[in-house]
Amino acid sequence: MTDTGNCILCGKCMEVCPLLRASGQEELSPRAKANLSALLASDIEALQEKDAAELAGLCLGCGRCKQKCPQGVDVPALVADLRGKHPGFRGWLWNKWLKHARELWPSTSLAARLIPSGMQPERLSPFLKAMQLLKSGNGLKPFVRIKTLPKNHAGTSMMLFSGCTARYVRPEWQHTALDLLSRLGIDVVKGKFGCCGMGLECAGFQTDAAQMRDTNVLAWRKAGKPKIVTLCASCHKGLAEYSKNFEDAVEARQWIEALTPISRLVLQGCYVLTPQAPEWIGYHRPCHMQHQDTDHAFLSAVLGEKLLEPDDRQCCGFGGVMQLGSPELCTQVNERCWQSLDGADTVLTGCSACVAQLAASAPENIQVGHWLEILDLEDDA
Ligand code: SF4
Ligand code: SF4
Repeated sequence: MTDTGNCILCGKCMEVCPLLRASGQEELSPRAKANLSALLASDIEALQEKDAAELAGLCLGCGRCKQKCPQGVDVPALVADLRGKHPGFRGWLWNKWLKHARELWPSTSLAARLIPSGMQPERLSPFLKAMQLLKSGNGLKPFVRIKTLPKNHAGTSMMLFSGCTARYVRPEWQHTALDLLSRLGIDVVKGKFGCCGMGLECAGFQTDAAQMRDTNVLAWRKAGKPKIVTLCASCHKGLAEYSKNFEDAVEARQWIEALTPISRLVLQGCYVLTPQAPEWIGYHRPCHMQHQDTDHAFLSAVLGEKLLEPDDRQCCGFGGVMQLGSPELCTQVNERCWQSLDGADTVLTGCSACVAQLAASAPENIQVGHWLEILDLEDDA
C-alpha cells in the first residue's frame, strides 16, 4: 500500500511535472493526483468506470515528482495502485488494447512494457518477434570507432539484462552490448531474465510484475549474484526499485550494487569519430535516468563539441499506458521535448521507450537512435 496522506501541498512537484508544463491543467498535476488518491483510498468503489478510464490519461509515470517530493509521496505508484485495484480500468485497458491492436501494437513497438495480465512475454513472443520487422526507429549508421577499451573488468563475470525491446524488437542493441562485453574481457553468464516489470507495475498489473521480479532475482541468485549490465534507463530504474524480493537487507544491497549501466563500463575507452559523424547531435536524457548519467558522460567524452546540451530537461511523452488513454497529451509533452532539441540533426538517448517515442515523432531529416547504434564494431581503428 502506498502512503497517500503525507502531502503538505508544498507544490515542489508542480515545478517538474511535464504533463502540467505542457497542458497547464492543474487537475493533471501530481499534487492533484495525490489528493485524488487520498480521497479514493478510503472508497475504491467511488472510482467509477469513467474515472478509471480517465485515470489512464493522468500520469506519464516519469517519476519526476517523486524525486522532488520532500515528503516521499510516490504519485506514479498511487496511480498504479488505483489502476490495479479497479476492475473498470483493467477492463478498459483490455478493451483498448485488443480493439485498437492495429494502431497501437506497431506504433508502440514496446508491447512487452504494456502487456495486460496473463499475456506474458513468453506467450507473446511470436508476435513480439514479428515486430522486429516493423520500423521502430531509423537505425543509425555507426560513426564512432573504438580504439581501446578499459581492461579493469577483464576476467570478471557479469549478466546482461537486455530488456524486452532489445530482445524482441531491436536485437542489434543486444548484439552490440554482447560484443562490447566480450571486447572488455567480461565473461557473460547466461541466465533467464524476463521483463523488468516496471511497465506492468505502472499499468496496475502488480501480480504479473511481482512474478517478473521473482524470476529476475532467482536468475541472478542462480548465476552467483554477478553484476547485471543494463542498456536501458527504464529497465535499470525498474530493477533498482525491487525491494520486496530479497532474503534480507544485505541481499537487497548486493542487488543494487550489482546494477551497472553499460556506459559505465566503456567510459574510460578511447574512441575516434569517422567522417560520417553528424554535425550536431542532441542528447535526450530519459526521465528514468535517475542514477548517475554515465550515458551522457560517455557521449560527452566521445562527441565533444558536437554534443548539444539542451537548456531544459524535457520528457519525451512516451507515457506507457497513457498512450492508450490520452495520446494527444503525450503529443503535447513530446512537442516541448523536440523544441528543446532544436538544432540537432541526430538525437541519441539510452532508453528504449524514449527511442521509440522520439523516432516515431522525429521531424523530417532528424535521425534518432540508442547511443549503442553509433559504435562501429565492424572496423576497429
Ligand atoms: S511535492 Fe510532495 S508534498 Fe509537495 S505538493 Fe507535491 S506531492 Fe505534496
Ligand atoms: S509521474 Fe511524471 S507525469 Fe506523473 S504526476 Fe509525476 S511528474 Fe507528472
